[in-house]
Amino acid sequence: MTRAIRWRLLATVFAAALFVGCDDSGDINLFSEADDAKLGEDVAAEIEADPANYPPYDGDPAVATYVEGVFQNVLASPEVERKEAFDYEITLIGDAETLNAFALPGGKIYVYEGLLKYLDSEAALAGVIAHEVAHCEKRHATQRMTAYYGVSALLSLLLGNSPSMLTEIAANLFVNVAFLANSRADEDQADEYSYIYMNDTKYYPGGVKFFFEKMRDDGLVDEGGQGIATFLSTHPDPIDRIATTNERLRENGVTVVEHDATGNNLYKSDYKTNVLDKL
Ligand SMILES: [Zn+2]
Repeated sequence: MTRAIRWRLLATVFAAALFVGCDDSGDINLFSEADDAKLGEDVAAEIEADPANYPPYDGDPAVATYVEGVFQNVLASPEVERKEAFDYEITLIGDAETLNAFALPGGKIYVYEGLLKYLDSEAALAGVIAHEVAHCEKRHATQRMTAYYGVSALLSLLLGNSPSMLTEIAANLFVNVAFLANSRADEDQADEYSYIYMNDTKYYPGGVKFFFEKMRDDGLVDEGGQGIATFLSTHPDPIDRIATTNERLRENGVTVVEHDATGNNLYKSDYKTNVLDKL
């Protein structure tokens, strides 16, 4: 840790201390944007080195290209503000059984092949991706790590005893990630910002809920995600997330449709041609 970083942490702690007792500390983040980026790179390297658990996608490369295009459509929203600071990147995991997606700090997003096969529209995929982008943009992982490591990390950093602290934290993030489970507030905020980003795209803005609706209709909503904070988080309840998204749509005067709708802004035939027919 450099002297500058230590001073910044110290300043943040004093600022944070002023608010203790009058606010929950959910928004305090002692890490910098650059720390988010570095952590994400470290964990991404761990993931790459662990093909048994995170097998690389080796199917039709056209599918990966198509997903990249959907990702870029979401990132094009002017509401995504950290495009300079973060190296946004989407990676497919070649596991056709897992219905999930997750984000690392600093813009690294992972989508399982199983999720691609399960979804039935481009808008649904864009909604999930936008939700994961929101976790990166709002820096939820390092916020939670601030809450978790708070005092001990600060003491080590301020005393200069642990220059490799960030590396240690990255290792822990990978090995023991239970503490990183998204809070209900984080999930709600990521769904909210999924709507906000999607609103700037060609897609139906409520796409984030389509996955849950399909899971609900298939009787699968009880399968909770574990480990690295994932899209399929058990809290808040997926049914609540559908209801909250519907409320958001109504408040904004958007017609509420479900995943089985056939609107133009769902891009179902594009999705079928480019993903479902190729996996
Ligand atoms: Zn999430």
